[in-house]
Amino acid sequence: MTKVEEALTLVLDSVKVLDRKKVKLRDSLDKVLAEDIYANSDIPPFPNSAMDGYALIASDTGGSSATHPRRLRVVEDLRAGYVATRSLGRGEAIRIMTGAPLPEGADAVIMVEETKKLEGLRLKVAGESEKHKGEFVEVLREIRPGENIRRAGEDLRKGELAIKEGKVIGPAEIGLLASLGIGRVPVIRAPEVAILATGDELLEVNETLVPGKIRSSNNYTLYGQVLHCGGIAVDLGIVGDIREEIKARIESGLDYDMLLTSGGVSVGDYDLVKDVFVELGMEMRFRKVAMKPGKPSAFGLIRGKPVFGLPGNPVSSMVVFEQFVAPAILKMSGKTGPHKLEVLAILKEDINKEPGRKYFLRAWVEFKDGCYWAKTTGPQGSGILRSMSLANALIIIPERTGEIKAGEKVRVQLWDYPGTERIGKKITLF
Ligand code: AMP
Ligand code: MG
Repeated sequence: MTKVEEALTLVLDSVKVLDRKKVKLRDSLDKVLAEDIYANSDIPPFPNSAMDGYALIASDTGGSSATHPRRLRVVEDLRAGYVATRSLGRGEAIRIMTGAPLPEGADAVIMVEETKKLEGLRLKVAGESEKHKGEFVEVLREIRPGENIRRAGEDLRKGELAIKEGKVIGPAEIGLLASLGIGRVPVIRAPEVAILATGDELLEVNETLVPGKIRSSNNYTLYGQVLHCGGIAVDLGIVGDIREEIKARIESGLDYDMLLTSGGVSVGDYDLVKDVFVELGMEMRFRKVAMKPGKPSAFGLIRGKPVFGLPGNPVSSMVVFEQFVAPAILKMSGKTGPHKLEVLAILKEDINKEPGRKYFLRAWVEFKDGCYWAKTTGPQGSGILRSMSLANALIIIPERTGEIKAGEKVRVQLWDYPGTERIGKKITLF
């Protein structure tokens, strides 16, 4: 029997980072950038106003205050998206909106809240436009050069490294790429993962139950898990416990980057999947893992493609997926970060355990009074999906450990946010 850590190493050593391709900007989200991206222009491309206010010459405001304001003549209105038609002269101001380019001659912006518009003042100025006739503004404090101006290139200078290769593209990166005008992005391709359920007892979701049959849930749990870790899931449906059919379907699954089968890998008389793996020449890396649930799990390469023989029991296949399949998918996608966050939590109940295998217990973990607290979510039978659905974490208990008492610290693998106030509503299970 292979230990969990060893099994993970065997999996990770057997899969390779996939090739790169260019995708449309929106499709690059959550993918790994395959190339360094350098800024092809300054961002922002021109100096612009950070405020709604007035562009001016800072030295025109020397000594200005609320009690002794300096008065400037307003010569133009400038909205974002347009360029001033004239440059600014001494004693002049241009009304400017956030994001509008700084007019030539101006070296600062005063925010509108620090000014006072002089209404109804009619001072005759030679050559002024009709619109701004007699429009003046008082500035209520002294302004330093550069105030409220965003410099060209203050975000990124032309030629500067914008995003490093290997970065997972999130909303900020996709925004940066958009600013740089990069509409097609080189990324590591996401793996296509085929899912095949095996078992004579299995029905499709829309089939009526008849004695002896159950609906296949693994096609759906695994589909969800593949998507959650960024893979492309391809459901190959269900195949009965018929050797030749299993073989044909597994072979068709080898067209994808990875194949997951569920069921048929334990020691029952009709557990044919492992036999077929052998017939197809699988380079078997492991066939049993010292874990509970999930012991009957196989992994190897068939014609170079990674193939997981996951257990049929719904919770076992989910747990095994998260421990081995998800890390493999992440590696193939070029991702290096940890998959699921693991923290220490204080156990809220006693747990019985036989030494020998590593246990993964469905649990609800809460963050309270500065600590994580963990309690199991009910019956832990490997077919009981309900307690998985109630869980936000797995308690992980090492192979050698026996019984553990309430109050002891245990490692928990968070599958979701710890229980806490959510959207204003307290969620507790106990
Ligand atoms: P097996 O590994 O084939 O012996 O299956 C172990 C248990 O998991 C049996 O009770 C099966 O009925 C059940 N099982 C197998 N495949 C599925 C599936 N796709 N969906 C739900 N339960 C399954
Ligand atoms: Mg079966």
